[in-house]
Amino acid sequence: MSGVSYTFSPGGWKESIYFFFYKKKCPCCHEKLRKEKKTISKGIIIDEVVENIKTELNAYEIEYLYICDQCNKTYTIVELTKIAF
Ligand SMILES: [Zn+2]
Repeated sequence: MSGVSYTFSPGGWKESIYFFFYKKKCPCCHEKLRKEKKTISKGIIIDEVVENIKTELNAYEIEYLYICDQCNKTYTIVELTKIAF
C-alpha cells in the first residue's frame, strides 16, 4: 500500500488556488514555466486504520517545482504564490 499527500503550507488555500487556476509564469521574464514533479520519500509509516489493525504505508510526498529555462531558476509553488498575491 502507498499513501500520497499533497503538501501545502498553513494558509495553503492561496497555494491551492494558484496551483489549479493560475498560469505559471516566470516572475522575472514572464516565460512559461516548466513543471517538474519531485517525489520525496517519507519512509515507512505505521498507520492504525482500525483499532489493533495496523498497516505499513510507504509514504511519500509529491512536490511540484517550476523551472524557468530562460533564467535558469527554480521556483516552488509557495514562492510563486507569494509573488502572485
Ligand atoms: Zn525567467
